[in-house]
Amino acid sequence: MLSIKTTSLFFELTCIYLRAMKTTDKKIELKGFTLAELQDYCISIGEPKFRASQLFNWIYNHICFDFNEMQNLSKELRGKLDDNCNLRTLNLVTTQNSHSTGTKKFLFETHDKHKIESVLIPEKERSTLCISTQVGCPLDCKFCATGLMGYKRNLTAGEVVDQYLLTAKENGKEKITNIVYMGMGEPLLNFTTTLKSAEIFTHELTKGLSRTRITVSTSGIPHKIKELADSGLRVKLAFSLHSAFEDFRSKIMPINKKYSLKENVEALKYYSQKTKTRITFEYTMLKDLNDTDDDVKAITKLCAKFPSKINVIPFNSIKHMNPGGISAELEPTPYDEILRFVDKLRSNNITVMVRETQGDDIAAACGQLAVKMK
Ligand code: SAH
Ligand code: SF4
Repeated sequence: MLSIKTTSLFFELTCIYLRAMKTTDKKIELKGFTLAELQDYCISIGEPKFRASQLFNWIYNHICFDFNEMQNLSKELRGKLDDNCNLRTLNLVTTQNSHSTGTKKFLFETHDKHKIESVLIPEKERSTLCISTQVGCPLDCKFCATGLMGYKRNLTAGEVVDQYLLTAKENGKEKITNIVYMGMGEPLLNFTTTLKSAEIFTHELTKGLSRTRITVSTSGIPHKIKELADSGLRVKLAFSLHSAFEDFRSKIMPINKKYSLKENVEALKYYSQKTKTRITFEYTMLKDLNDTDDDVKAITKLCAKFPSKINVIPFNSIKHMNPGGISAELEPTPYDEILRFVDKLRSNNITVMVRETQGDDIAAACGQLAVKMK
């Protein structure tokens, strides 16, 4: 009979063996590979380069999650890919529909049990998917539910692309025409992933999504804005302004203490010149705090620096998070006041759009995305 000591040693050795198996068993996450990366991978396993375009087509256009369905690949290659690679990064847990606007919120789970959200906003002539780049966000903006929930980790390129692929599959015939990086997290703090996913979305082989329909939104990381401009990707850039005054911006967006508005304005000018695009300023309206005549003047001055437009967003309540500090004091500017503010900006020759609140009945509106952290 084995002694207790020998049994526990045996148990421990078994655990070590199983852990080692798991490490060697780790599959390559092919989802999120760009065409160039797929080409490198094909060459590394002794396959011709053109296989990469076939894989690209199956993964991103046919939205195929099973190598065995890739009919123009040999049985042997399909088996090899199946043994070594993985095509599913997220599981769709639930979807929620907003009855008032038709907005849909998708809750996904990652392999390490984190929850993230994407939001699909159907409109008359387009259907916009709002995707996340991080689990939570480290930047702690005082008006944002994601900021209040804290930060866990960056998402992988596969996890970002899968939000689109799983939603597109779920959505069936209703085609997604626009992708905005405005879900959970700061895309420019997950720069490589943002770049890789945007490259996949805008690639000429990715049918159905054209390069003008991708928008990256940032709270302002100037050197990354410049790097994005130099990347050659022609995505639209939105900048979360919320105040044209350094002091107040720092109060509601702590990142402004590290990267001032002044530095960001210089980077945005660079982006606009280099990409020949107009920058969108996002402006969430907070009652008595950023909706005064002085704000109109400061925004007007700012908009004169490079081609831009303003996207005014009614403040979406974050009361469901029970916030403290300044967050608890924030109130939305009443709608008629918003319209008066917009009129004043327009009379200064500024292009202004007012974004309609979408899906606040299911906490899917801008800045309302937050899920419980483990
Ligand atoms: N981190 C990026 C993108 C995600 S946030 C960024 O900050 O730009 C997407 C947009 O929602 C940003 O413009 C953000 O400022 C805005 N937002 C955040 N919380 C909001 C709220 N409670 N009401 C309205 N808009 C909000
Ligand atoms: Fe992060 Fe953007 Fe929310 Fe600020 S607004 S906390 S940057 S997700």
